[in-house]
Amino acid sequence: MSQRRLVVPREAIEGDRATVRGPGHHYLCHVLRLRRGDRLELLDGSGARYEGEIDGISADAVTVAIQDRHPPPPAPAPRIVLIYGLSRRSRTEMVLQKATELGVDWFLPAVCERSVARAVDRPGRAERWLEIMTQATRQCGRAAAPILSPALPLADALAQAGEADLRIVASGPEGEPISSVSEALAAKGLRDVAAAVGPEGGFAPEELALAVQLGFRSVSLGRLVLRTETAAVAMLTLLSFLSGRLSPPG
Ligand code: SAH
Repeated sequence: MSQRRLVVPREAIEGDRATVRGPGHHYLCHVLRLRRGDRLELLDGSGARYEGEIDGISADAVTVAIQDRHPPPPAPAPRIVLIYGLSRRSRTEMVLQKATELGVDWFLPAVCERSVARAVDRPGRAERWLEIMTQATRQCGRAAAPILSPALPLADALAQAGEADLRIVASGPEGEPISSVSEALAAKGLRDVAAAVGPEGGFAPEELALAVQLGFRSVSLGRLVLRTETAAVAMLTLLSFLSGRLSPPG
């Protein structure tokens, strides 16, 4: 059952029926090779889960009779927002996937001074990113995919996340040790934390200065210089741990 899981657009579910078309139809028919009568689980991206049974397959649609619905579980607190400096395609895509697995709630790509030019705008990129997140959501059993924002210039991305209760920027080995924000992360009632990680070339000094001006605390992830994708994974893991998000439910 757990492998038979598909994220569908919300409008695919109407009352007790779901109609799956397009890539979802392909996945159910040709990848999972499901047949009439097979059971599966559908996720609608809001966190709700639906269990049901396939009751019809045509050339372009699979219909599912929904038998059980599970409302969205309460989101783990605090919400985590990742501001990620756009890097070469393979690195950004890896971070999208890993950030989804590590429970990021909101992914905000940022165009930085040292973002490689060809990473900045490519046709079809948003669709590909959504697909990567959708697949990772399915694979790891998350109920809802992270929110994906369009890429913004870093200053705008920092400002968008400026409302977060706690703001952190991974500045490099010379920042404060991340343990210095552990108390703030463990504080009761913390609603959201925003963390910014630079692109492969790092943040420019004026970008770091701007982040600090906007209330982001510069933290270090250790004495060694990590690659951007390693820094993102390490940052998210530490934030999850220090904020108690890794504890079992209940
Ligand atoms: N080429 C740059 C390194 C960039 S590393 C240089 O030589 O300085 C890419 C990003 O990963 C950085 O902008 C930072 O956000 C993060 N990062 C890497 N190592 C880190 C560390 N030890 N502590 C905090 N952040 C780190």
